[in-house]
Amino acid sequence: MKALVFRGPGSMPLEERLDPSPGPGEVVVEVRASGICGSDVHGFAGATGRRRVGVVMGHEATGEVVQTGSDVTTVRVGDRVVLRSILSCGRCASCRSGRPNLCLERQGFVAELRQD
Ligand SMILES: [Zn+2]
Ligand SMILES: [Zn+2]
Repeated sequence: MKALVFRGPGSMPLEERLDPSPGPGEVVVEVRASGICGSDVHGFAGATGRRRVGVVMGHEATGEVVQTGSDVTTVRVGDRVVLRSILSCGRCASCRSGRPNLCLERQGFVAELRQD
């Protein structure tokens, strides 16, 4: 598979990677379209330290589930999905009030491809 990989400010080559396989609770999504976020642009330019060398760019994407790992019950192969770029706790006041983007424990989705 092809992946657009951040190699440092101004360097983002298209690289060949092994096809991923899902672990427990994970799915593999074949990306159909990906947006270019402002944070991607700033990371590519080196204006922020929010992109680590080796990260696969593009965290705002849509696609189709092509494999599911064990314990996955909410989606099936063939489902069309949108990647949610923020992981939130689901328990705090912000999450419970429908504003997971303001979660105090939120983490950014990082598309890293395991090389297994
Ligand atoms: Zn974004
Ligand atoms: Zn929360």
